[in-house]
Amino acid sequence: MSEVSKSLDFIRTIVTEDLKNNKNNGRVMTRFPPEPNGYLHLGHSKSICLNFGIASEFGGVCNLRFDDTNPCKEDIEYVESIQEDIKWLGFDWEDRLYYASDYFDQMYQYALQLIKDGKAYVCNLNAEEIRHYRGTLTESGKESPYRTRSIEENLSLFERMKRGEFEEGTCVLRAKIDMTSPNINMRDPTIYRIRKAEHHRTGNKWCIYPMYDFAHCISDATEGITHSICTLEFEINRPLYDWYLDQLPVPCHPQQIEFAKLNFTRTIMSKRKLLRLVKEGHVSGWNDPRMPTLAGARRRGYTAEAIRNLCDMVGVAKSNSVVDIALLEHCIREDLNKKALRVMAVLKPLKVIIDNYPENQVEELEAVNNPEDPNSGTRKIPFSRIIYIEQDDFREDPPKGYFRLSPGREIRLKHAYYIKCNSVIKDELTGEIKEVHCTYDPETKGGWSTDGRKVKGTSHWVSAPHSIEAEVRLYDYLFLDVKAGEEEETSDFMERLNPNSLEILKKCRLEPGLKEAKTGISYQFLRQGYFCVDSVDSLPDKPVFNRTVSLRDTWAKIEKSQK
Ligand code: ATP
Ligand code: MG
Repeated sequence: MSEVSKSLDFIRTIVTEDLKNNKNNGRVMTRFPPEPNGYLHLGHSKSICLNFGIASEFGGVCNLRFDDTNPCKEDIEYVESIQEDIKWLGFDWEDRLYYASDYFDQMYQYALQLIKDGKAYVCNLNAEEIRHYRGTLTESGKESPYRTRSIEENLSLFERMKRGEFEEGTCVLRAKIDMTSPNINMRDPTIYRIRKAEHHRTGNKWCIYPMYDFAHCISDATEGITHSICTLEFEINRPLYDWYLDQLPVPCHPQQIEFAKLNFTRTIMSKRKLLRLVKEGHVSGWNDPRMPTLAGARRRGYTAEAIRNLCDMVGVAKSNSVVDIALLEHCIREDLNKKALRVMAVLKPLKVIIDNYPENQVEELEAVNNPEDPNSGTRKIPFSRIIYIEQDDFREDPPKGYFRLSPGREIRLKHAYYIKCNSVIKDELTGEIKEVHCTYDPETKGGWSTDGRKVKGTSHWVSAPHSIEAEVRLYDYLFLDVKAGEEEETSDFMERLNPNSLEILKKCRLEPGLKEAKTGISYQFLRQGYFCVDSVDSLPDKPVFNRTVSLRDTWAKIEKSQK
């Protein structure tokens, strides 16, 4: 067994105790059970890290099981994306890929068993009536008039349900438990309903489909799961989970344990809501870099390592909370700071002409690739008479405290020379600055003066004739308000969408080496943030870069101020 390195949260404490007591003969088996009705999101990564993490720490295994019991909402596209995302996050289910639908025959047999034992009945109340009979939190429920049907009649009706003789909604199979139970889930819950829909795996074999509560516990028990870890909202379903397993001759009885979901400020985690964003065209798809999906995060340039670190940092607890999105961004920066190559890219170019630099001269200047990584080496970048700097790095009329380039003032060009601004050429009609004329000091090669002369500003730049053009996409949060993740089911979250979550800059200029940029590699554009090649829209002659995250770290500031 591998050593348990993490401090023990309450779930790991339970597993440790179980192993000590030789419960489950010392086995540990968990599962990650996504419903293939959407892409995985950052919240799921907590469950993935927890289930796969516990299995590996305690010498067990973790299954991947698709909870595919609702044919109307599920799709093979989701089945595939979910597998890709889990692998990307760094986990492996080996040969243990299962589907709840693999157990449909077994579930049907168990349902027959419940009927034969007088613990299930076919009910002809419609959905509205069932809701009415169920009662409320404060009011006990009423028994269905169909509850006393004979076993024979129930067997025959259930058989006819399966054969497709009844229309959707005309009847269901229900467990006979207790209509007066204080737990509404125990008031004769539905076991099977009729859905005349094609299933992505079982085709048209079935027209009755098991409900989640019935399917889930049976799937767990069939696979021999020891610890069935799920999120907090299933706490009130636990008595039902246990009831089914207690009635049926299942091979084992897994323990259901609930933990709090991971939610973030400024975004949403509900698949239903994310699907709306996709369907209504507010984003370009499930993998839009603004989406909190793992596919979106990957395309944006977030790393699996940073997401796993985040899950470690937030830990596992039993009370719901919303994590500040700044913490996620902090984890991304920490990881990229170690890995990303430092390069120069000018997002909003302003042409600078160095009048005293020889017209056809090109120098190859040396630049360090990553000061955080001594093994990353250096590279050569071309310098010539015409360069671009950021429009923001020049002011004709500098306000107080502005230390960048302005008429008469000298700044450093990173890795290059000191330059001093002498004049400005403007568009006669619009007044827009067309180009800035400077002189350079040849004695300051590398960006350092030999006479001790200091400058306050340092700008990044690219050589105009050597640079490549690229599109750069900058992202802001999808939602305007901080509490987007917490809002009520009933409120319309669409109203709080951020209309400016995407800014596209078409004519950015990048240092020439970025022609070779590959997807999956992160770059720090000096002073601008971390960027990566867009895996979908980038073309060799029309590169597109995404900003993963800016350099400003609000979380680090919060931490510092608390010390
Ligand atoms: P949604 O409400 O977004 O549709 P879900 O819970 O229905 O999510 P599933 O596909 O059933 O999505 O989730 C698979 C597993 O991931 C479940 O065990 C679920 O509890 C867990 N999970 C879902 N959302 C989160 C989250 N925000 N944080 C942690 N775990 C989560
Ligand atoms: Mg679910």
